[in-house]
Amino acid sequence: MFENLIRLTLTASLILVPASQSIAAPALAAPAAQNAQFAETSRAFLDAYWRALPDAAIGAGKFDEAARQDIPDAASRQRTREFAATWTARLAQIDGATLPPSQRSDLLLIKNELASIAWNLDTFRSYTWNPAEYNMSESLDAIFNADYAPLEARLRAISQRLANGPAYYSAALANIANQTSEHTRLAIAQLPGAGSLLDSIGKAAQASQLTASEKETFALRLQQNHAAIDTYVAALTALERQAPANARPFRIGKALYDAKFGYDIQSGFNAEQTYSRALLAKEELLQRMQQLTQQLWPKYLGNVAKPEGRTRQIKMLIDKMSENHVARGELFAEVRRQIPQLEQWVTSHDLLTLDPSHPLIVRETPVYKRGVAGASIDAPGPFQAQRATYYNVTPIDDETPEQAESFLREYNQWMMQILNMHEAVPGHYVQLIHSNRSPSLIKSVFSNGAMIEGWAVYGERMMLESGYGGDTPEMWLMWSKWNLRSVTNTILDYSVHVLDMSEADVKSMLVNQAFQSDNEANGKWRRLQLTSVQLTSYFSGYTEIMALRDEQKKSLGAQFDQKKFHETFLSFGAAPVNVIRSLMQP
Ligand code: ZN
Ligand code: ZN
Repeated sequence: MFENLIRLTLTASLILVPASQSIAAPALAAPAAQNAQFAETSRAFLDAYWRALPDAAIGAGKFDEAARQDIPDAASRQRTREFAATWTARLAQIDGATLPPSQRSDLLLIKNELASIAWNLDTFRSYTWNPAEYNMSESLDAIFNADYAPLEARLRAISQRLANGPAYYSAALANIANQTSEHTRLAIAQLPGAGSLLDSIGKAAQASQLTASEKETFALRLQQNHAAIDTYVAALTALERQAPANARPFRIGKALYDAKFGYDIQSGFNAEQTYSRALLAKEELLQRMQQLTQQLWPKYLGNVAKPEGRTRQIKMLIDKMSENHVARGELFAEVRRQIPQLEQWVTSHDLLTLDPSHPLIVRETPVYKRGVAGASIDAPGPFQAQRATYYNVTPIDDETPEQAESFLREYNQWMMQILNMHEAVPGHYVQLIHSNRSPSLIKSVFSNGAMIEGWAVYGERMMLESGYGGDTPEMWLMWSKWNLRSVTNTILDYSVHVLDMSEADVKSMLVNQAFQSDNEANGKWRRLQLTSVQLTSYFSGYTEIMALRDEQKKSLGAQFDQKKFHETFLSFGAAPVNVIRSLMQP
């Protein structure tokens, strides 16, 4: 249940998109020539995009229309459909071959986004079967916590949004036609968090400088929103209680999976090829882990007899090593302690340039965001230069002693370091800061999840290669286990959604072949039911980055400079690795 996660669905958190005017441009070669006409077209496109999808604007940190709460009804979908069709037709007129490379790739990204919007509306149609898509909290929280305007102005925007709350939740309910049981239960579990967010905003409103009559209106709207959420949850609970035998299965099937993989991952490989590559990678990792196990056995298990079979031996050693973990109450302190160490290492080993003016804040995951991922990075959007980056860690205070112990063993002494590399340094946090300087707003806004996750996974490996953690067999064994998790994520996501793999087989692969705890296996099964394709982004992006680095080493020979490779790679914003590859050609 504690796992890194970036982006769940098209509508969920665009929280990760970066870029800011306040940071100097990266030390790239002279800015590439721009086609002025296309630059104008892409500006006009973005203006239309923000109008069509106001919550995407909020996610990107653009608050000029913060007061506008869209109601997810048929008219709204029709407007979005028309927006996508109009711009698809308009962009079809442009001959990409006439554009400089960076703009050519921007054009591809915009076209992909438009095709994805249309496909989601007319083919995937999760708005009819995923009740958890409806939750106003993400934007309300962003407006409430942003610093783009004084508190009172933000509260007025929130108040206007809340006026649409009852219509929002009743349109949501009207959209639900054949919900999956899994997403219905998720919505029922998450929406009370939306209620507590309303309560804290309400308290701030009453304590603010709003006029007495504004406060009265605010309080009334809050009440109406509470009631709307309660009604929505009650209706979902009733639907779930009826548990129709013909409820939609959560498995999306091959046709939807292949298409979604194409839009979301944008890899040089298709879904099935990526799955096949993951099967090979799994075998390679297990062979390496087997060797490391032979090496480490005497140190941790002395003369204890080895059980039959490769995976049993590896598992027994990892179990023994996992006893080395922090105490339950030390989790946050340990995460906080490690961040500066990682930063120090990255700088002193010339791996990357860091930006101390944008520090990382470790905090407990806000309540309404809990439920799917245990750790995540919440970074400012492209128009939100000054906002802090948060490292959200879901607390384990409410877990039973057994659950907490299982969690702490999983994030043992070695694994905790790898997690922090992934989430923070040099992973997500650092990548997003670099992406902030991207000269292409399009690449920042339409960030590619596989590039983002791939970079975080690559970052772990790069740190170990540089000697972090002492280049010990322990560190490499735990890294292999962690990497095996990305690989297994890919195998399981495809197996569950396309090949109909059973819950028992999923959990058995996780526990017996990927060395996950029962807790982790349960959490992963839950995530497999609630998401699709996203779990393949780690392995997909990672393997493409590794291949690109090999290619660059080969072509540059002695000229290859790792720091330069990293900074150039990160300078294009979170474009698909395939696109970055074409931009890095000399
Ligand atoms: Zn991640
Ligand atoms: Zn213990």
